[in-house]
Amino acid sequence: MTELNNKTEVIVVGGGPAGIAAAITIARNGKKVVLIERGKFSGSKNVFGGAIYTQPTKEIFPDFEKSAPLERRNVEHKYAILSQDDATVVSYRDKKSEAYGSYTVIRAKFDRWMAEQAKKEGVYIVEETVVRELITDNGKVTGVKTELEDYYADIVILADGVNSLLAKSIGLRKDIECKDVALSVKEVFKLDREKINDRFNIADDEGCIYEIFGGSMLGKLGLGFMYTNKDSVSIGLGVTLDDLTAGKVKPYELLDELKAHPAIAPLIKGGELLEYSAHLIPEGGYKKMPQLYSDGVMVTGDAAMLVNNLHWEGTNLAMISGKLAGETALIALKQNDFSASMLSRYQKKLENSFVLKDLKTYKELMDVMHSRKSSFLKYYLEKINAFFKMFTFVDSIPKRKKYLDFIKTIFSDRKISELFKDAGSVIKLLWSILK
Ligand SMILES: Cc1cc2nc3c(=O)[nH]c(=O)nc-3n(C[C@H](O)[C@H](O)[C@H](O)COP(=O)(O)OP(=O)(O)OC[C@H]3O[C@@H](n4cnc5c(N)ncnc54)[C@H](O)[C@@H]3O)c2cc1C
Repeated sequence: MTELNNKTEVIVVGGGPAGIAAAITIARNGKKVVLIERGKFSGSKNVFGGAIYTQPTKEIFPDFEKSAPLERRNVEHKYAILSQDDATVVSYRDKKSEAYGSYTVIRAKFDRWMAEQAKKEGVYIVEETVVRELITDNGKVTGVKTELEDYYADIVILADGVNSLLAKSIGLRKDIECKDVALSVKEVFKLDREKINDRFNIADDEGCIYEIFGGSMLGKLGLGFMYTNKDSVSIGLGVTLDDLTAGKVKPYELLDELKAHPAIAPLIKGGELLEYSAHLIPEGGYKKMPQLYSDGVMVTGDAAMLVNNLHWEGTNLAMISGKLAGETALIALKQNDFSASMLSRYQKKLENSFVLKDLKTYKELMDVMHSRKSSFLKYYLEKINAFFKMFTFVDSIPKRKKYLDFIKTIFSDRKISELFKDAGSVIKLLWSILK
């Protein structure tokens, strides 16, 4: 850093997907960019499910499939609805497709690989360094303070993840409310490759994703997941902090219960626990996004709450927001204008991309789920399983009577007024998605 004399054109804080995408976009256009990462290396502190998505990743790394450390290409996506003891699983498989939508990766390897590519393209990376504060001059962000040194730049891009104390310190965001953040816990189990292939019905390089509703999370605003890696299976769940506190439950207890569910336990049976981790996921969505820019600064990725929680999408929104912040920085550098008004172009770019379009599409989702979780995340999930139990169980009761009895339970188990409220919420949600 001495050769840069502690002044550069752009500083990026955080070496996750958002930060690396921003830095690489800037370096590719011949501008000076310093990325500061607190971990020993990029990815060393990062936790996710998870899958990275092929098309958005190609926007940053067109040939990533040739050299990135990928685990499996996902050919099957399962949606498992769990009650206490039974489950309905809906599955979509696309085995023949040439273009795979996603790959499982291990972040410690994948983020490190991304950082190596960034270094090759001219990004100056400072590792094992925490940015403590932002330096401002008359309200404009002009640099960052680390434990050891101060660094100055025309623009600072914040890609420091869900907590983003830095964005908060300059008033771009408030404390996240407990209902707008999920605490996620995850375990990775080592399993023989053949066992994984047999249990998930996939070939050596193929992967299977489980998105899990209900089970130990019945009635709570939370989702579970399972991902197949080459020689391990990742399983976890995320539940909003307010539901964890209200229910006085610990997330790892919910995970233990999930792992013991009869539809899940056989899939990870005999696996050796390799890793346990926990991380927050921003869940506030479009309505809770912070201010995305100010004089000399832009906020990207999780720091900007850019997560599509229904689809478990985060890395793609992070990468694309980083890229768009990088592109905006290039225009600002060209015009030598680092004002909020110039950097507002970043927000416009996000609005024209799938990032804010998707978050806007789902802007009512979290409110509806918060207010109707006992319906949509418990009652109807259990009813779906009850229906399939009735439908598949063979006895001597005529089918017509079974159907009528099932319909009767819907009206006897739940007040009509509640059913109307549920229907109203669905209409409101569909209207907000489709309008
Ligand atoms: C359990 C779980 C499962 C998930 N599953 C998926 C999935 O399957 N697919 C998907 O696309 N998304 C998934 N996500 C979301 C996804 O992980 C995030 O949206 C994504 O990582 C956001 O990228 P980012 O670069 O904004 O932040 P991060 O990846 O969090 O990176 C932030 C970086 O900043 C560094 N940093 C923080 N503060 C400082 C500081 N002060 N100074 C220096 N460095 C700092 C951190 O060390 C870190 O490297 C999941 C998240 C969780 C928690």
